[in-house]
Amino acid sequence: MEKSTKEDLELIRQSVRTLCEKFPESYWREIDQKKEYPEAFIRALTEEGWLSVLIPEEYGGSGLGLVEASVILEEINRSGGNAGAGHAQMYTMGALLRHGNDEQKQRYLPKIASGELRLQAFGVTEPTAGSDTTSIETMAVRKGDRYIVNGQKIWTSRAEHSDLMMLLARTTPKDEVKKKTDGLSVFILDMQEQKDKLEIRPIDTMINHAATEVFFENVEIPVENLIGEEGKGFRYILSGMNAERILIASESIGDGYYFVDKSVQYANERVVFNRPIGKNQGVQFPIAEGYMEIEAARLMRDKAAKMFDDGENCGAEANMAKYLAAEAAWKAANAAMTTYGGYGFATEYNIERKFREARLFIVAPVANHLILSYVAQHVLGLPRSF
Ligand SMILES: Cc1cc2nc3c(=O)[nH]c(=O)nc-3n(C[C@H](O)[C@H](O)[C@H](O)COP(=O)(O)OP(=O)(O)OC[C@H]3O[C@@H](n4cnc5c(N)ncnc54)[C@H](O)[C@@H]3O)c2cc1C
Repeated sequence: MEKSTKEDLELIRQSVRTLCEKFPESYWREIDQKKEYPEAFIRALTEEGWLSVLIPEEYGGSGLGLVEASVILEEINRSGGNAGAGHAQMYTMGALLRHGNDEQKQRYLPKIASGELRLQAFGVTEPTAGSDTTSIETMAVRKGDRYIVNGQKIWTSRAEHSDLMMLLARTTPKDEVKKKTDGLSVFILDMQEQKDKLEIRPIDTMINHAATEVFFENVEIPVENLIGEEGKGFRYILSGMNAERILIASESIGDGYYFVDKSVQYANERVVFNRPIGKNQGVQFPIAEGYMEIEAARLMRDKAAKMFDDGENCGAEANMAKYLAAEAAWKAANAAMTTYGGYGFATEYNIERKFREARLFIVAPVANHLILSYVAQHVLGLPRSF
């Protein structure tokens, strides 16, 4: 993979910015109020090739890395949009790109790159397991040339808007494996083909994230849709999770810059007591603090993305980037609410929508508590707590 120069990255940034200008905040506000999926935006993003940057050129993508993908998602969120509607296509693909075989890549990647197929659903979380992924119970049992899947996922975003799902299921029950991370397998599930055996129930949430519960009743997956080796899926999902964390950090960084940009503009314009509110240090300081923390998180994200693209182990950096970026964005979100006063609550100003959206990343796709625990245990060598 050829590395992008500073100029290349700037060009990507500007191009995505230009695309996002066609989808102003009023577009996102309306989509949010109607709880609709941003079809037109996702179509435009796909047509311009931004959702397929991680797909190698031989399969119809542009063969770029996480450094470039990060810039794309950051810019979408900085524009006031919500990259969450399409981000999974980038990170779920990791398992297929790194661990799929040639036939699987040939079968799916060109269609994903062209937009003919959407791989937007990632089925990991289950109601009883929560953050403890190895305790998932959805079972895939091999019967001849198929796996038969029964169980339930929760919080599966975009299941109604995706053709394919990257599914993590148990192929051996937890009490029959030596290590709890064994016996988990990853599949590409063709949801269109199995739609009669899948029940998808939308979950009403405080943000427009197309979240659903998915019930599997004797869902059939051909053995050729198993990614890599049976029972080794946890490892494949973990390697994809570093990419996911770096990309989610990028969305938070975009959110953070959005809040700072908007706060600075409003604080300069809004006059109360015959002076712009931005003259007051009580208003200035939280914005400055938010900005500094976002810049710091960006440096960690840049480091993690570069390490990922260079094939280095970036588990610590990817986790730290996600934590720092989500916390910084949340701080900046609160600063924006303070700056906007009562107007922050009015949907027309967009701050409340972005505020709700920014909060998600403290808990998903991995709770920040679990990142603290990862750093304590794996980076600092403190005792395992669970
Ligand atoms: C809008 C939305 C979209 C999502 N999309 C997807 C998706 O597409 N696919 C998917 O698979 N999942 C998805 N998720 C699920 C998400 O990844 C989980 O919500 C998240 O991992 C936390 O799991 P949980 O909600 O079960 O919380 P729990 O695991 O029940 O945790 C609840 C609280 O307890 C804390 N906690 C738990 N254990 C510990 C511990 N050992 N130490 C310290 N604190 C702890 C957590 O930090 C958290 O604050 C989505 C979630 C949301 C809200």
